[in-house]
Amino acid sequence: MDSSQRHYHITTFGCQMNKADSERMAGILEDMGFIWSENPNDADLILYNTCTIRDNAEQKVYSYLGRQAKRKHQNPNLTLVVAGCVAQQEGQQILRRVPELDLVMGPQHANRLEDLLQQVFDGNQVVATEPIHIVEDITKPRRDSTITAWVNVIYGCNERCSYCVVPNVRGVEQSRTPEAILKEMEVLGQQGYKEVTLLGQNIDAYGRDLPGVTETGRHQHTLTDLLYTVHDVSGVERIRFATSHPRYFTERLIVACQELSKVCEHFHIPFQSGDNDILKAMKRGYTHEKYRQIIAKIRDYMPDASISADAIVGFPGETEEQFENTLKLVADIGFDQLNTAAYSPRPGTPAAMWENQLSEEVKSDRLQRLNHLVAQKAAERSQRYLGRIEEVLVEDLNPKDNTQVMGRTRGNRLTFLKGDVNQLRGQIVQVKITEVRAFSLTGELV
Ligand code: SF4
Repeated sequence: MDSSQRHYHITTFGCQMNKADSERMAGILEDMGFIWSENPNDADLILYNTCTIRDNAEQKVYSYLGRQAKRKHQNPNLTLVVAGCVAQQEGQQILRRVPELDLVMGPQHANRLEDLLQQVFDGNQVVATEPIHIVEDITKPRRDSTITAWVNVIYGCNERCSYCVVPNVRGVEQSRTPEAILKEMEVLGQQGYKEVTLLGQNIDAYGRDLPGVTETGRHQHTLTDLLYTVHDVSGVERIRFATSHPRYFTERLIVACQELSKVCEHFHIPFQSGDNDILKAMKRGYTHEKYRQIIAKIRDYMPDASISADAIVGFPGETEEQFENTLKLVADIGFDQLNTAAYSPRPGTPAAMWENQLSEEVKSDRLQRLNHLVAQKAAERSQRYLGRIEEVLVEDLNPKDNTQVMGRTRGNRLTFLKGDVNQLRGQIVQVKITEVRAFSLTGELV
């Protein structure tokens, strides 16, 4: 089938890993001659890259699919693709619910999109969810930004947190080689990208599956070693990484972040709960005391570092007292940002089978109380910026005020300032902070 005049549209749900996968799949489609269509209803190929981290994320895709399935009855040439974690979780079953689908593909198959579509264009309905070794991708991702870029360093996760669906849908850990990552970053530097975020579900596990150990018996390839390897890439001015795991977070990594000038002083380290019994039931593998020590160590080396995290409230069996331990940890640490969620039972996860599930009322009450405290603490944390000169990488126009541009501090704080986006986009500028809010700042160009 001639694809040269065909248009595609990708809708992405969920995390940064999904966004990075969508950018690569868009690159593959454009390599095949497809053209991006902003409006999905003008597209001949629709791809939903899905998320199943919580039930509402999963349900969302079915309403989208329903609309396009109707369209396909009028236009049989429409190609419908569901990718990502719901596709992996449901596999063949999803065809019973949406028989109009042409391709169901798990996250591990993202780089195989062209082969899979060829099978579809040959008249097949394709389901690709078998575990595979992820082939290194040579296609040029169609990135959303021309300033900041995601770079996958490790796929999958070998942890077994009792609430989490990720290992089931993203598979075992597969680290990319340092050489492949370095090459991708060199290309990004040449293309003018100023900031790179290294991505992994559990990025501290980077390299564990790669061969080689040092004399001291430690893995030869670790995230810390990778940071030293990619630090001097020319053109890239800032390096970030996510998502960390307290169980594997090392002082060696903290020292590297302090030493390496391009590595931004922002750490995203989910703690999930402030109660040790809940952490045990979650199979997180650390205590709140260990978590507090990590944050204290980071602040010893980098007192002004930004700390963000994820927390779950309403885990099965969580008592009021245990929830208050989470509130206490949040109050004590003072996070710059905290992503909060009410526990959502996920298919195929141990915790979903447990009897002691809490009611939606209790969960939403706790979520509200936690969010209130988070905003209060974030506002307190933001105060430290007032009157300071901050280094901001300008990314784009402020969509709400076109006399302003927006960007982020090294601490990942969203910052707005007056300026011409054509002059400032991609520039690292000095900004005097004149106004602070819980989760964003305003300032003047110095
Ligand atoms: S570390 Fe735990 S929460 Fe994070 S992706 Fe792995 S299993 Fe899920």
